[in-house]
Amino acid sequence: MKIICIGRNYAEHAKEMKAELPKEPVFFMKPDTALLKDADFYFPGFTTDLHHEIELVLKVCKAGKHIDEEFAGSYYDEIGLGIDFTARDIQAKCKEKGLPWEKAKAFDNSAPIGRFVKKSELTEDNIEFELKVNGVVKQKGNSKDLIFSFNKVIAYVSQYVSLRVGDLIFTGTPEGVGPVLIGDKLEGSLNGESFLTLHIK
Ligand code: MG
Repeated sequence: MKIICIGRNYAEHAKEMKAELPKEPVFFMKPDTALLKDADFYFPGFTTDLHHEIELVLKVCKAGKHIDEEFAGSYYDEIGLGIDFTARDIQAKCKEKGLPWEKAKAFDNSAPIGRFVKKSELTEDNIEFELKVNGVVKQKGNSKDLIFSFNKVIAYVSQYVSLRVGDLIFTGTPEGVGPVLIGDKLEGSLNGESFLTLHIK
C-alpha cells in the first residue's frame, strides 16, 4: 500500500505556511514504512522541529485510475484520522533548495493513524475534527473548508497514480500546526469522538 498526502488543502493553513493557495491539488507520498498504528512514536534524531498535522484520512476500497470526479466517492469507504508528521526544519531547507520533501515527510512512522469509520456514518462535507496536545486544543478543522473535496482529490491524483485497495489518502491539515516534544500526548477526535491517541517517546 501507499500513502498519498495532499498539501495546502485548507486556506488558513496555506496562509500560516506563507504559501500561495493552490490552483490544483498538491500531493506527495509516504511509503508503507511510514505507517504507525497502535504504537508509540519515537522522536527521530534528525530533526529539532517536528510538527503535527492532523488530517482526515480516506481508505481506498477499489482499484482505479483516471477516476471521474462524479464516481470518485465509490473508491473509498472509510474515513479516519491520521497525523502527517513533518520535520519542519528539514522541509524548510528542502523548499529553499527546490529539493523533494521526502526527508521531511516520508520517514519511518511519520504517518500514525487511528481508527476508521464507515463513511456512510458521516456527513462528508461536514466532518469536524481536532487535535489536542497534552489536553490543549491545537488544531480544529472541518471538511467543509477543504479547498479540494475528497472526490476532486481522488479524480486529480488518479490521473497520475493508480489507486489500489488499502491505499490511504491524507487530505490536508487545517491551521494550527506546531511542534511536538518528547513526553507529549496527542489526541485526535472526529465529530467529538476519540479516534487517535499517540504518545511521543
Ligand atoms: Mg499534511
